[in-house]
Amino acid sequence: MNPNRSQLAGLYIHIPFCAEKCLYCDFYSITDLTNTGPFLAALEREMGMAGRTTLTFDTLYIGGGTPSVLGAAAIEHIIAAAFIHFDIRPEAEVTVEVNPATVSLEDFRRYHQSGVNRLNIGIQSFQEENLLFLGRIHSREEALSSIDWARQAGFDNIGLDLIYGLPEQDESCWLYDLDQAVQFNPEHLSCYILTRESGTPLDRELMAGRIRLPTDENLRKLFKTTVDHLTNHGYLHYEVSNFARQAEYDSEPWVSRHNSKYWSHAPYIGLGPSAHSYPEPERHWNHHSIEKYLQDIRHGKLPIAEKEKLTREQIIMEAIYLGFRTTHGIDLADFERRFEIDFSKTFRETIEEYKRNKLLKVTKTHCALTTKGMVMLDSITAEFTSQDWP
Ligand code: SF4
Repeated sequence: MNPNRSQLAGLYIHIPFCAEKCLYCDFYSITDLTNTGPFLAALEREMGMAGRTTLTFDTLYIGGGTPSVLGAAAIEHIIAAAFIHFDIRPEAEVTVEVNPATVSLEDFRRYHQSGVNRLNIGIQSFQEENLLFLGRIHSREEALSSIDWARQAGFDNIGLDLIYGLPEQDESCWLYDLDQAVQFNPEHLSCYILTRESGTPLDRELMAGRIRLPTDENLRKLFKTTVDHLTNHGYLHYEVSNFARQAEYDSEPWVSRHNSKYWSHAPYIGLGPSAHSYPEPERHWNHHSIEKYLQDIRHGKLPIAEKEKLTREQIIMEAIYLGFRTTHGIDLADFERRFEIDFSKTFRETIEEYKRNKLLKVTKTHCALTTKGMVMLDSITAEFTSQDWP
């Protein structure tokens, strides 16, 4: 659709194992670890098949699930295999997601030596009662130690994940977690709202009326608190839930290069059960079942469950949604180049209305949601994407 767009791609590897399932989680992962050996062998075979691509990668992200349950030797092996089978730039951003209960200083040292240059630590909260409620397997002490070990092992790019919007959580309770996080000066912070996903234990608790999530109004306040607090502490709010520490001197802020690919519609390849791939204009995803995944690989087939070819309309709708997720917003020139649509002209009335309500801001080059607008991301996007365009 646009031959001028950068083709540097992201490689994602989904590790489908966790020590236990958290209350709120609907990612595909299992707690039976007996298949880790066959999975690692299958993953390497999948790399052999999927590696026959012309894409060049500048990010590798090992997520899940809980990659760290596999142990450091497995992570070393996966990284080495990925560099053999794919054309990954030597300076690539290489991230591993970890759970504080499943790591040690020695593990982090081994990760670092094997080429990992970014850690994403699933802290979620620094308060025992919150961790217990969320069904996390780690303690506050383990959360603190993991950050400390990451620095000792030499990581200068650490991301922490936090969750807010827990039942009865007030502003001071959330500010406590934010304060603890910024004291460590992490390069990156992801702050997610606890979301009800159907079929999860959280969903059942809510259905039974045993707990209640904060109202939309309270969530709006907590979101604003998050943005205000972190920007006051030198973080750049660059995506709805993501904040990057501003770098010193002239360097770029510490954004997640890998996740930025999803928001900018860059191509990515996903390996492992349930992983999605997007070699534009096609999207496909792997089986949400380790058994089916292993079976397909055994038969020498890519373990793809379904494929779809995105239409021009679908790609435009996604570009609007993804653009509005980021604080720099939609790049008007890039949008016009890709779709031959003058965004400002086509959506003039809608833009004016949202600008009047301080939900949208427009510069010569970009159209973006304000912090107030970001809380209404879904409904504002729907307003744009339900219109006719040329
Ligand atoms: S550790 Fe992560 S992937 Fe595993 S159950 Fe918890 S939230 Fe889900």
